[in-house]
Amino acid sequence: MSNWNQIIGHDWAVQLLANALRHDRAGHAYLITGPAHIGKTTLARTFAQALNCTAVVDERPCGECRNCKLIAADRHPDVRLVQPDISSRGKPTIKIEQMRELQQGLSLAAYEGRYKVAILTQFDAANANAANAFLKTLEEPPNNVVLLLTANDADTLLPTIASRCRTIGLRPLPTDLIEQSLTTRWHVPEQQAHVLACLADGRLGWAVQASQDETILQTRAARLAQLQDVLAGNRVTRFDVADKLSRKAEELPDVLQSWLSWWRDLLVLAQAQRTAPAQHTAPAQHTAPAPLALTNVDHETALRELAAAWSSPHILESLQQTNLALWQLQRNANTRLVLENLFLTYPQRAA
Ligand SMILES: [Zn+2]
Repeated sequence: MSNWNQIIGHDWAVQLLANALRHDRAGHAYLITGPAHIGKTTLARTFAQALNCTAVVDERPCGECRNCKLIAADRHPDVRLVQPDISSRGKPTIKIEQMRELQQGLSLAAYEGRYKVAILTQFDAANANAANAFLKTLEEPPNNVVLLLTANDADTLLPTIASRCRTIGLRPLPTDLIEQSLTTRWHVPEQQAHVLACLADGRLGWAVQASQDETILQTRAARLAQLQDVLAGNRVTRFDVADKLSRKAEELPDVLQSWLSWWRDLLVLAQAQRTAPAQHTAPAQHTAPAPLALTNVDHETALRELAAAWSSPHILESLQQTNLALWQLQRNANTRLVLENLFLTYPQRAA
């Protein structure tokens, strides 16, 4: 049984990579994109196993041979994992020194495998020097080298880099697939699996981690509470929160993602309330299409109250501004300014 089975969802991406191998047509560079915890690095690592597995072609990656096992543990001499360093200011960065070291490693012949593979995660974190140095490797790759990059979004990379890679865009997984995988593979109790699958926003890796580490849900609760503080606060409070958050820049994309999901839920509910008949009877199930599913199911009551109080255009504006802030942060805008601007656009919640 092939180790491709460890990848849940993303069937077309697995097909594409497996077929490339079967026909001996693997590209020399791939860019795997998608939100955090969606399975980008797992896909890259599994492809690295398939490239160097010693089982017969149709069973690669077997997950059992020496190469497969060393790659799974990130200890194979021919498969290098390059990850951003976290700076003292909390910002993840890939630096030119890391690229030089990588280039040196790639210029040597493979020790044990057929291919030398470099997995470069979160390549959006490469600074300009590192990206330009890497471009040289990409333009003239040594023989039998396969470069696997991951990033949130191809747009955040230099166009000259993105255009030299085959792009594989991973999409969020359906909620029911996540729920089912949590119960069958990770033996999470059904009720917990349901809530986690809703909260996951299509990111299976997040749901699995959250089922094993309760601090993840606590962190999420704290982030949503912080948003409530901002909404209830005056300008001084808001700037104070902006200041605090800007000191933890590496967490900000995740913070804004949880806020985005909250605003999206609010918009879904506001629009549902606007179109629903104004009578307090249970809606007949066959008269309307199924409502869009909420992410923050555990906050439904509070969300419904606000959805009734605020207008849809206001909510939509906040959703769009949050999305814009996330986009700006990914492009290295000044963290504190981005947050201050965002908070000025948020509506004020009555105390
Ligand atoms: Zn193997």
